[in-house]
Amino acid sequence: MALTIGVDIGGTKIAAGVVDEDGRIVEHLLRPTPARDPERVAESIGEVVKELAKDREIEAVGLGAAGFVDETRALVRFAPNLAWREEPLQRKVSHLVGLPVVVENDANAMAWGEARFGAGRGESHLVCVTVGTGIGGGIVFDGALYRGRWGMGAELGHMQLVPEGRLCGCGNLGCWEQYASGNALVIEAREIAEADPGRAATLLEIAGGKPELIEGSAVTEAARRGDSAALAAFSAMADWLAQGLCDLAAILDPGCFILGGGVSTAADLWIDQVRDGFTANLTGRGHRPAADIRLAELGASAGLVGAADLARIR
Ligand SMILES: [Zn+2]
Repeated sequence: MALTIGVDIGGTKIAAGVVDEDGRIVEHLLRPTPARDPERVAESIGEVVKELAKDREIEAVGLGAAGFVDETRALVRFAPNLAWREEPLQRKVSHLVGLPVVVENDANAMAWGEARFGAGRGESHLVCVTVGTGIGGGIVFDGALYRGRWGMGAELGHMQLVPEGRLCGCGNLGCWEQYASGNALVIEAREIAEADPGRAATLLEIAGGKPELIEGSAVTEAARRGDSAALAAFSAMADWLAQGLCDLAAILDPGCFILGGGVSTAADLWIDQVRDGFTANLTGRGHRPAADIRLAELGASAGLVGAADLARIR
């Protein structure tokens, strides 16, 4: 069976694996990312690929990169959390490992992994929303990954939903990910705790007494213990998530949405509200099928598996 290697390159770690045609991971490796040095990143990728390819016949390599990847799937134009600027990653890694290489945006790779082997199996039109620190997105349109004209499509987290809203890392105001991500959850919880400490008693106790010390894990724990501020922060996030999904459905009319990322590990605290908000506000509701809202199934390996599969499509 033809094997490919998928590599998921994040801001802190490189996850790589040998993947078969059915999306099964045959072998898996994890390394820290030397984030500040593009040459070292390419070398580290080369090392893990060579280690995995030893004594195996490998067809190609797919790299999922946390950045803006060009339409030829060769160049990382810009990466907010890594030192890449106009980085010719395909050429560098291909030269190091002697195999065909494709580069894909990491959220696109995740979406493809879920579409082929995870929660989106059998669905030709879907949108994958990765709710982590920010919001990543991937669109599968008519059975193929939709990249846009220049490879920059599906940056869903940067839809500007709130006029004059919170400043985003991208430089614009009011982006979706400033309201419906893990970061947004923390911002919201801190704001409530600052304004009304009595309401956030449990949350503040867990976080060490100060609003600025509140982190995502504390919000989750406090919400599970019934803290009113923590529950309100989750509720606000869920409403914004639902709103964004309604907008995406108005444009794309997908068969399903797949929600993944770090915040989805606490999905029991918000998924019902997202589903309810979506069906209550969807344009044309009652006269159209509503997209199914599902949780991702492949977890942290979705990007690696998707990148490996995309390496077959050259
Ligand atoms: Zn933005």
